[in-house]
Amino acid sequence: MIVFKEVCVGCGRCQPYCPARAIFFEDQRSAVDQTLCLECGTCLRSGICPVDALFEPPQVYEYPRALRKYFSDPTSTHSVTGIQGRGTEESKTNDVTMRCGPGAVGIAIEIGRPTLGMGLRDIQKITRALAQAGINEIEENNPIHSMIQDHQTGDLKSELLDERVLSAIIEMQVPRAQLQRILQMLKQVIPQLDSVFTLDVFTLLEENLQVPLDILSVIESEGFAWRPNAKINMGLGRVSE
Ligand code: SF4
Ligand code: SF4
Repeated sequence: MIVFKEVCVGCGRCQPYCPARAIFFEDQRSAVDQTLCLECGTCLRSGICPVDALFEPPQVYEYPRALRKYFSDPTSTHSVTGIQGRGTEESKTNDVTMRCGPGAVGIAIEIGRPTLGMGLRDIQKITRALAQAGINEIEENNPIHSMIQDHQTGDLKSELLDERVLSAIIEMQVPRAQLQRILQMLKQVIPQLDSVFTLDVFTLLEENLQVPLDILSVIESEGFAWRPNAKINMGLGRVSE
């Protein structure tokens, strides 16, 4: 995002809308710190500017900066997933996709939300730790997958490392037996992250609508606090072949 300085009247109304605190005063006009700006578009979409001084230049859609847009602007469609947002539909459509079946556990590692933002170097800290733990099953349809240069080391493509995004999710499906190892790995890497962190673990419910006790026991034994969270699909989809 940029501000047309010759148009800006320096009212400052746009500044509180920026989750990255990227808009600042310079010579009594607003300006955008291009390093901090996440290209989320919030300031522009708010319509708050009385003189239309905010402008999204075409360079926003050039690689690698375009990743800021795809990960941070919920109205943009990601070029990898083809859907709006940072990841895939995850558990929301599991009743028809069965991506996470019996005996498996789905894991989503969310960083940067709510509205704190993060650098992609933090994603690399996690992908490297996963690779060192021998876990390379990152979901292929998640945009993070295509950002990894070397799946053996977990290194991201070097041109991406200085990019910042509002938030990102690393998704995977693994056998239940791997959950404990992943949680132990995460406990090692969490203190190195310069942002906020949420871990989603999802499974099929058992017949009596009980969350599998072995999953809860692993989560608790590794010291993670948990709370149940249901995403209900109304069953209007068709079963995938
Ligand atoms: S696009 Fe988003 S991050 Fe960039 S200046 Fe506007 S509100 Fe801030
Ligand atoms: S709202 Fe518009 S005029 Fe006011 S400071 Fe921001 S860019 Fe300038």
